[in-house]
Amino acid sequence: MQLTHRIEKAEDWDIVRFSGDIDEEAEIVLSSLPSQLSGQCIFDLKDIQSVNSCGVRAWINFMRAAEKNSKLIFEGCTPEIVSQINMIPNFKGDAHVRSVYASYVCDSCDTQKLELFEEGKNLPKEVGEELAEVNCPSCNEVMEMEELEDEFFGWLEAS
Ligand SMILES: [Zn+2]
Repeated sequence: MQLTHRIEKAEDWDIVRFSGDIDEEAEIVLSSLPSQLSGQCIFDLKDIQSVNSCGVRAWINFMRAAEKNSKLIFEGCTPEIVSQINMIPNFKGDAHVRSVYASYVCDSCDTQKLELFEEGKNLPKEVGEELAEVNCPSCNEVMEMEELEDEFFGWLEAS
C-alpha cells in the first residue's frame, strides 16, 4: 500500500499520521512533505505496514530535511520501526520517541498481541529496567516479548 499521510492540527503541534509502506515509492510522498511541516510535529507511525531498504533511504533523506525546521516526535512506532531505529540511528535522527509497540506472544496458547509502551507510563527510562507483566487476553498467562527486551529498547541508550 502506497505511503500516505494526513496532517492534523493540535494546539501548537502538527500531527502527521502516516499509513502504508515505506518502500521505493515513498520518496515521491516524502520529498514534498518537509515544506508542509510546522516547527513542531508529531509523527504517528502506528499504521506503517512495512519498511524496506529503498524506503529507509528515502526516509532518512526526508528526516534530514524535516529536522532542519521542525522539532520531531515519533509516536506509535511499530516493532518493525523500532528495529530500524535500533539498526540505523539516522532513521530517527534527533526525533524524540514517545511511544512504541512491542509484540508479545503467549507460550500457552500462541495468542499474539501488540503492547503499547508510552513515555511517562510503562516505557522504561533506560535499558534493563524491569517491565510490567503483560497478560494474555485469552488465557491470562504472562506473555513473552518476541524480541530480547534489552535489544528492543536499545535505542533508549542513544537518546
Ligand atoms: Zn494465552
